[in-house]
Amino acid sequence: MKNKNTLDHEIHLKALEVASRYLICTGELIEILQTLDARKTFRLYECTSLYRYAVTFLKLSEDVACNLIAIARKSALVPALKNNTDSGAISVSKARTLCAVLTPDNQSRWLDFAKTVSSKALQREVARVNPKAAVADKASYIAWDRLKLEMGVSEECMQKLRRVQDLESQRLKKAATFEDTLSAALDAYLEKFDPVKKAQRSFARKAKMESKSESELTSGVIFNALRLVSPRIKVPHSGPRKPKSAVLKHQLNLRDQARCTHEDGQGDRCESTRWLDTHHIVPVCDGGDNTFENLTTLCRAHHQMEHLKA
Ligand SMILES: [Zn+2]
Ligand SMILES: [Zn+2]
Repeated sequence: MKNKNTLDHEIHLKALEVASRYLICTGELIEILQTLDARKTFRLYECTSLYRYAVTFLKLSEDVACNLIAIARKSALVPALKNNTDSGAISVSKARTLCAVLTPDNQSRWLDFAKTVSSKALQREVARVNPKAAVADKASYIAWDRLKLEMGVSEECMQKLRRVQDLESQRLKKAATFEDTLSAALDAYLEKFDPVKKAQRSFARKAKMESKSESELTSGVIFNALRLVSPRIKVPHSGPRKPKSAVLKHQLNLRDQARCTHEDGQGDRCESTRWLDTHHIVPVCDGGDNTFENLTTLCRAHHQMEHLKA
């Protein structure tokens, strides 16, 4: 029977061997992420980003996906970063910290520094040089319906927040919290700039002209009213692309809710509500017009994927 020391030594050797394989696999994963990124292979698998692909197909946790993709992208610019993580000279966590400051010009100074100091000391120095990198934007659940929001802000941004907080306190007749303040500021922004709200307002005005009483104005009524006012806004195709009218833009925003309309194989609609383009279902070069029926809203990635298919 083996004595305790021999057994512990074997466990130790096994741990070293597993950790070394883990390091090799991490290096290989970073390398393949670089290739996937360069070739945009993830788009062939219905993913709009490398991050989405890494979480969905590679089953990486959100944090690991974020970290490895950041290192993969930085290593494409500064290959020495990956060489140092492959050899174990710099840990993955230090490599991630370095991503915020590393450039081809300063690489030897930062890489040497990272090898000689602790992770904490490296984070402190990176934050000193690049204060924006000290706090990453983050929203994490702390209860099923509540989140904790983390971000860094400039002094100027803080002053604006304080100003709105004063105004909101005045309006509420109580001391407004940051949450009250942010919520009020966001409501004001959405009221002014949200394309869906703008479309609803425009439709409501037109429906009112059609003598509907205010109480009857559901979005369905509003939408139909606009379609009656302007059933088909057709700009015949000839030569260069014609601009879309404001009414047509409102119609599209209300129908598509200013959200990508792409559906995957399971019929799940893309969640994207940013970087939106208007896509011609029948292309302009094939005589497709700026009509309500021929236009759809797509996010940038699905738009590009749609044109790659064509
Ligand atoms: Zn298009
Ligand atoms: Zn999309």
